[in-house]
Amino acid sequence: MGTPPIIADMERWDAIIVGAGPAGCAAAYDLVEAGRRVALLDRTEFPRHKACAGGLTRKTLRALRYSVAPVTREIVSAIVVEGQKGEAATLKSRNPVCAMTVRRDLDEYCLGKTRAAGAEFFRIAAIEGIEADADGVVVRTAGREFRGRFAIGADGVHSRVRQMLYGDAPTWMRRGFALEAEVRNCADGKADLIFDLAAVRQGYAWIFPKGDHLNVGLYSESSAERLDRERMLSWVRQRFGDVRAENVTGQYLGFGAENAPPPERRIFLVGDAGGFADALTGEGIYGAIASGQAAAAAIDAELKDGTPADRAFAERTAALRRDLMLSASGARWFYGNPELGYRALTAPLFRGAVINAYANGTKIAALANAVRRFAGVLPSRA
Ligand SMILES: Cc1cc2nc3c(=O)[nH]c(=O)nc-3n(C[C@H](O)[C@H](O)[C@H](O)COP(=O)(O)OP(=O)(O)OC[C@H]3O[C@@H](n4cnc5c(N)ncnc54)[C@H](O)[C@@H]3O)c2cc1C
Repeated sequence: MGTPPIIADMERWDAIIVGAGPAGCAAAYDLVEAGRRVALLDRTEFPRHKACAGGLTRKTLRALRYSVAPVTREIVSAIVVEGQKGEAATLKSRNPVCAMTVRRDLDEYCLGKTRAAGAEFFRIAAIEGIEADADGVVVRTAGREFRGRFAIGADGVHSRVRQMLYGDAPTWMRRGFALEAEVRNCADGKADLIFDLAAVRQGYAWIFPKGDHLNVGLYSESSAERLDRERMLSWVRQRFGDVRAENVTGQYLGFGAENAPPPERRIFLVGDAGGFADALTGEGIYGAIASGQAAAAAIDAELKDGTPADRAFAERTAALRRDLMLSASGARWFYGNPELGYRALTAPLFRGAVINAYANGTKIAALANAVRRFAGVLPSRA
């Protein structure tokens, strides 16, 4: 058979984006809306499974350029937080906190929107190389080469683009881990959104209602915590009794954007590939969209008036990276002091602020630090 011939792509794209998840689609959508030519590459055909609970906080819905109502299963406006000793508190909001989607549907929908806006989608085989010079980039895949002005690595936590730039395990990158399952035929899929802080060290278990089923899972901000299928099934049994948990899948989450070196001149990492997930909450879709949009705006600025895109990308992600840094330190304290953390988080004084910070993202890191200071003055409990 031999190696397939390389089809040299004679077109010159403004941006070549590797990965068509939330980060890649967000970047591609803004670039094509700005009139840029975009090649969006993914190794899988859509729809495809992605281990993810598909919770979109209010800030994520605001960041998206279009409504995702057609793929929204439930809207929640209250969260139940459960502590180490069986205690529980309900945090309520007057406004919706989170839209519940299924990632398979959401990603197919967003890719459809992005293609309809003008991005060209290519299913690719393995990436064999990425090179950049003063003028542009070449992405070499098995069987095809893509040439363009800029490239974006939006290829998730195991990013091949990142590996080619920084090697297998760059010191600035950290990983969390989460495992999910679908539970059907227990109660109904309209249960409360629940975070159980007792189930996992350095993390939590969740229950997300999806209308016709529950998405449940275990999250740890430290990849050292062992979360496996047995542990997932045992937590489901303990929680729901004798029900079937289907499609147990897990994946790492990418943290560490706050410690990343200054961006390359023509190749930017976004979403999990660039470590834009939040260690405190385990939320990654917002960071994926926000960093994807930042890369798009930076590239568009350079193409428009010569503003260096690498500098613009660093500036446009600075606030997000600062929040991620505060979240990372908040996570270390919160999960390291779960009892105190629970009490401070659910103190009547903070409940409204906590749920709104979770929904809106604004000040979540500042709030985590306020909670931490407050916890320091809580009377100890016998
Ligand atoms: C179990 C679990 C539950 C989660 N729940 C939530 C939640 O409820 N809410 C939330 O906000 N976040 C959640 N997260 C985090 C969230 O899933 C990620 O942060 C988010 O998907 C990151 O988006 P992304 O676009 O960067 O990467 P991804 O969504 O991983 O997309 C990457 C894309 O790149 C493609 N790709 C990968 N490698 C290559 C390659 N070599 N060549 C070409 N294409 C490639 C993949 O096929 C994929 O389509 C959860 C994570 C896990 C593991």
